[in-house]
Amino acid sequence: MRDLYADVIVDISHEKVDHPFTYRVPEALADTIRVGSPVLVPFGRGNNERKAYVTGLSVTPPMDPSRIKEITGIPDRDLPAEAVLVQLAAWMKHTYGSTMIAALKTVLPASRTVRVRTRKEEQAEPAAPAAPLSLSDEQEAAASGILADFDAGIRKTYLLLGITGSGKTEVYIRCIKEMIARGKQAIVLIPEIALSWQTLNRFTSHFGDRVAVMHSMLSKGERFEHFDKARRGEIDVIIGPRSALFSPFPNPGLIIIDEEHEGSYKSETMPKYHARETAEELARLVPGGASVILGSATPSMEAMDRVQRGEYGFYRLTKRLTGGTLPGVEIVDLREELRSGNRTPFSRSLTKGIEERLGRGEQVMLFINRRGMAGFVSCRSCGHVFKCPHCDVSLSAHTGGRLVCHYCGHEEEQPALCPKCGSKYVSSFRAGTEAIEEKIRRMYPAARVLRMDADTTRTKGSYDRILSAFAKREADILVGTQMIVKGHDFPGVTLVGILAADLSLNTGDYRAAERTWQLIVQAAGRAGRGEAPGHVVIQTYQPEHYAVRLAATQDIDAFCKEEMTYRRLLHYPPASHLLAVQIYAKQAPSGEAYAAELRTLFDGALQDRNGDCTVIGPAPAAIGRIADVYRFAIYLKCADTELLASLKDLAEERINEDRAAGRAGDVLLQFDLDPLRGF
Ligand code: ADP
Ligand code: ZN
Ligand code: ZN
Repeated sequence: MRDLYADVIVDISHEKVDHPFTYRVPEALADTIRVGSPVLVPFGRGNNERKAYVTGLSVTPPMDPSRIKEITGIPDRDLPAEAVLVQLAAWMKHTYGSTMIAALKTVLPASRTVRVRTRKEEQAEPAAPAAPLSLSDEQEAAASGILADFDAGIRKTYLLLGITGSGKTEVYIRCIKEMIARGKQAIVLIPEIALSWQTLNRFTSHFGDRVAVMHSMLSKGERFEHFDKARRGEIDVIIGPRSALFSPFPNPGLIIIDEEHEGSYKSETMPKYHARETAEELARLVPGGASVILGSATPSMEAMDRVQRGEYGFYRLTKRLTGGTLPGVEIVDLREELRSGNRTPFSRSLTKGIEERLGRGEQVMLFINRRGMAGFVSCRSCGHVFKCPHCDVSLSAHTGGRLVCHYCGHEEEQPALCPKCGSKYVSSFRAGTEAIEEKIRRMYPAARVLRMDADTTRTKGSYDRILSAFAKREADILVGTQMIVKGHDFPGVTLVGILAADLSLNTGDYRAAERTWQLIVQAAGRAGRGEAPGHVVIQTYQPEHYAVRLAATQDIDAFCKEEMTYRRLLHYPPASHLLAVQIYAKQAPSGEAYAAELRTLFDGALQDRNGDCTVIGPAPAAIGRIADVYRFAIYLKCADTELLASLKDLAEERINEDRAAGRAGDVLLQFDLDPLRGF
């Protein structure tokens, strides 16, 4: 029998994960030890026995075998939270691609993006204890169904489908309470952007100081304190963004992912994991298993597909519990508006609606699909477009005559004359949030207008400040990007205008229709949350597009059917899987050549598996250069994630070998499984 060697990480500290050390696996343990196993090893000069975690196994020693020490045993305790997280990291590395160290740094409680709210901050919010509500029949059916499964030993994932205001959060709260009664803990993921004081108050009013809330913006001490509390069993619930998934609870029984369709659940750095899939894996790994509840008004195609296959449990909340009926929805064809001489960004119907609301003292939300939309600056004489000198994107006009690159932050003054032809007709076509705000202020000087976008929410607390000011009716009109769409309750809003609903249809990736549909449905859901009935105006150039049409009618099943037909036809996720192999290089030729070599490598590996996997590319990425780094992509389309994982491993081995031999230059590889956004 060949010797087996284990890479181990000794003493996983919160602060940093060091490089792994290699130990020999004794024959007696060869069948027991897996990646993620806790082991005991002699460490340092004194050979003191320390606990370590196995992060890799191999049959080739990295150095003279006689110098390699041997693992002495396995700690005889239950699987601690860390061991589960190390196993989860190993799964993430395998599935999504990254180094083991990067995966460990992601799952171990040291994430740099998480801040825990201090006791002081929490107390500052007037959270009165909440009396338990009696659930509606639909809520009761969901909560008791999920709990009955749990008690019967069934562990699975449930989709809880319901428009905002239909009572999903109350179902979560009931399920969490029941889990706590069973000695279990719960992890609640909420998109960072929706972690408003409103939401947090609801949880603290039920769980008091047994709940910890994670927030972005770092405070190390507080973070450790709360993770330590989780480990010691002093709290039962953690609420936070994606990274809160890795809370070291001893006995988690329930993982909730609210707004599961949200793009922020996918990591943008390696490993580029998706919290939904990772939560399901974690639920399998924890002792006794956990249930997973996904909540959404506009579920991802992934979730709907699994429901249709019968893999997920499914509960539906069809009624709004407060705030009356669903809003009336109207689609306005912008081409018609133009034909009849209206050249403003506001249709006649929307203008009339705004004026009526202002007259009645009601509130209006104007939603613009994307920041910097058509914000580019060009010369009207020669057509010259101002581009970032470091990226293949055009610069966007901002206030004060600045031109800004949204990808690398490059800024320059907007020149008075065109640098190419000298013409003075240099202008920006601005229809982004800033421009809309300006126009609204000019049209209605007496109206109080707030704007919410990436620019106005840069500083700490500004996001909450804008929202609470609007909630307190200190403004009449809120203009904003997708940020204003999330589940906030503004009873004073009776009109929502969606200014260019189809803009996100033109982003050129396979999720464009899904995203557009979600945005329209979510935006429409902001109207009429109070006593007065709501109205929604959807302005679009493509009124006949199914994403627009079926968002207006709120027909989820019809939309999913159309969208899945398209995904199946083109073998896009979730009908199949898509692995983006992303190649970065300082020199375009070396990146291109390396990408071509990888293509050859993939073709060779797939020789006998013809038809199982489609290889597309290499081609320059949609944005071919960012911050002076050139970007190329190869796409692998395949139903079998294990085959994709093996192709990814092949590419990784190749670049590691090439790097060791000095052949890889400055080429970097990244992988993105089932990417959510274009590259
Ligand atoms: P969602 O999470 O789906 O947006 P919520 O759980 O926030 O919905 O419920 C929307 C509103 O309805 C909240 O104000 C909540 O307090 C109220 N609500 C929820 N369930 C009930 C119930 N069973 N009885 C009375 N009011 C309820
Ligand atoms: Zn010019
Ligand atoms: Zn740039």
